[in-house]
Amino acid sequence: MKLCERLKFWTLVLPVSVVACATSQSQMSGSGPHITEIKKMTHVFTDRVTPRGISVGRNFLGQRTYTSVSVMKGEQPLAELPGVLISDSQGEGIRLRFYYHQPSEKLSLNTAIMAEKFIDALVPVRGRMWPAEPSFSFTYNIHLIGWDERIDGEITRVFRNNTLELNFYARALPIAKNDFLFAGTLAHETFHLMKRFYPEKGKMNAKSGLNKAQKTMFEEAGATLFGHCMDLQVSGEIPLGHNPVSTITNSNNRAETRKGSFNDHMLGRFIEPGFEIDKDYASTIFGPMLFTTLWAEYGGQVEMINVGDPAAEKFMNLCENNIWPPEKLIPVLQKMADDSVDPPELRRKQALANKKSP
Ligand SMILES: [Zn+2]
Repeated sequence: MKLCERLKFWTLVLPVSVVACATSQSQMSGSGPHITEIKKMTHVFTDRVTPRGISVGRNFLGQRTYTSVSVMKGEQPLAELPGVLISDSQGEGIRLRFYYHQPSEKLSLNTAIMAEKFIDALVPVRGRMWPAEPSFSFTYNIHLIGWDERIDGEITRVFRNNTLELNFYARALPIAKNDFLFAGTLAHETFHLMKRFYPEKGKMNAKSGLNKAQKTMFEEAGATLFGHCMDLQVSGEIPLGHNPVSTITNSNNRAETRKGSFNDHMLGRFIEPGFEIDKDYASTIFGPMLFTTLWAEYGGQVEMINVGDPAAEKFMNLCENNIWPPEKLIPVLQKMADDSVDPPELRRKQALANKKSP
């Protein structure tokens, strides 16, 4: 598959900048114009797109399978795989193994620190959100790659005994520089996977009236929140730059162009049960925008939210109570849509600064 097709296919974490155009007629009812359909959108990918994704299916024997995917751009072909095992950390059924072909003490130490923090943060969450018996165990194989190496990798496994082994690729450099935000990505993808493996609890309430695209949007918002709550615990911060700061426009009413966050009116429409949204952008744009709307509402126009900030507390509270299943976010968002105060717009500044070359 071509990258663009893959991007549509997988549920992704995408640092993207997006322009959207709604071309259909606005329906007038009550006060104000309505965002109707979003028909045309243009993705403007940054030079360093690093999507990762999860997919669940069945093989020809009918066995349940799951696939982890990483696509990373770069000028250089990958030097060699697998690298040397540089750290192996485990606790309570959660294991992180890091591999790299240029081992160093610093990387071994940092990956072990990151792993320990990740395990400490995930253990209580696993018990609360997915209390299956026997409980799920997770093994993450993280293959580190050089700054400019490219990879397009996916590994499919058969699901057995509630054991999940996921494989992802990550840049070595940020981890060497004490940037552990990749932990949030691991958590994000784990959320998607569990959503599919744990349908009884994670399934959206059938009576919610949400359509399929809206459910996808809410799943993405839940995964984004979950990843960032893990970031808060592992790294103590969430940079806005790890989120797409998208623009959506209703071409019938330019006043409803928004950057980064929904205004009250748009928010009310997008979460209204059955409201038609473009399914192609449910996970890449609208789900993340629910998150950035929460960001704008809680934190304002800041580039970083740190542990201890009131906004961080609010995010942690949502992660405790409102993301499993993610339709539990609806009352929270509805309240925001009804408060008559639009959250500020968000603009990308040095949002991807920490992703630029060293
Ligand atoms: Zn996702």
